[in-house]
Amino acid sequence: MERTATCHCGQLRVIATGEPERVYVCHCKACQHRTGSIIHNGSSWRKSQVRVEGEDKIYARMADSGFEIRFHFCPHCGTSVFWEGDKNPATCGVAVGCFADPDFPPPDSSAGRRRCISGSDCRPRSRTSRNRAPEVAFR
Ligand SMILES: [Zn+2]
Ligand SMILES: [Zn+2]
Repeated sequence: MERTATCHCGQLRVIATGEPERVYVCHCKACQHRTGSIIHNGSSWRKSQVRVEGEDKIYARMADSGFEIRFHFCPHCGTSVFWEGDKNPATCGVAVGCFADPDFPPPDSSAGRRRCISGSDCRPRSRTSRNRAPEVAFR
């Protein structure tokens, strides 16, 4: 299966083949600032599964892991489409939202929950609480 992730203007494209190794959400402060959203939804791929077309620019920073991570964004519209770093040189990440695919596999893990915005749907719910929306199905 082949899926294409694109930036807002469409010139930066990531074509991914096969299935992602991992799909996750992250609520950390860095992801919130980077995406402008309260949750980042990411997918991990082997670099060999992914092909990049179009022009990109890189914003590099040190991750909490102590390794550099590089975000590749479109110089025209600013969307961060994919990223890679020194911690896992064989893999890269692609923003799930850039696939804009309602059938994309759902997240199976969640990080940075302490930063969840109060009252948002992403906040994990206690299994015992009543009269609330069903628990998000993260492991
Ligand atoms: Zn663009
Ligand atoms: Zn994060």
